[in-house]
Amino acid sequence: MNTRTDLGLLFSALAFAAHKHRAQRRKDKDASPYINHPIALADVLANEGGVDDPVVLCAAVLHDTIEDTETTGEELQERFGREIAEVVMEVTDDKNLDKAERKALQVAHAHKLSRRARLVKLADKISNLRDIASNPPAAWPLERKQEYYEWAKRVIDGLRGAHAELERIFDQEYARKPG
Ligand code: NDP
Ligand code: ZN
Repeated sequence: MNTRTDLGLLFSALAFAAHKHRAQRRKDKDASPYINHPIALADVLANEGGVDDPVVLCAAVLHDTIEDTETTGEELQERFGREIAEVVMEVTDDKNLDKAERKALQVAHAHKLSRRARLVKLADKISNLRDIASNPPAAWPLERKQEYYEWAKRVIDGLRGAHAELERIFDQEYARKPG
């Protein structure tokens, strides 16, 4: 039985994600530590969205572990329980598909996501738009940044009705589209 407190569970998720992402960096010119990004999602959810559901906050911290590290859904289920593992799996792209297909499927599948997965997606897209605005991937030309903004908006338009404030914050970031 899991006897951890909600805060204990969140710190276990942070320690696990920090370990899994330990050798990875973001794509900005300073190659920031990867873990800054999952932490940013939890920060947006808790402090801007007022989200206090530990399942959502832990799933946010873990959201890129299956996609970008050796982590499996079974491993997350064993350590963090079925609910958290399922939300992470919902927001994980199928790496067997090429990038263009994965991006099209994020748009097509947005309306099928659970509410918890929608919250994680909203925080992910808010954080990535902010990164592109202030710490963009090195060498991305303006058009590529703009394409990312457009694609992120298509994903978010597919899941609206989940959280009015986070959707407003997304729209505010989108309104700052470069160019
Ligand atoms: P990538 O998927 O390669 O990069 C964007 C992703 O990188 C984000 O979703 C985020 O994912 C992660 N990331 C890491 N560091 C940063 C950062 N500092 N700022 C923002 N995001 C960061 O690029 P695209 O989304 O553009 O996808 C590739 C697609 O682009 C392909 O479909 C290809 O056809 C097309 N393409 C377009 C080009 C163009 O010039 N327009 C050139 C080449 C390809 P996460 O949150 O998961 O970490
Ligand atoms: Zn992410």
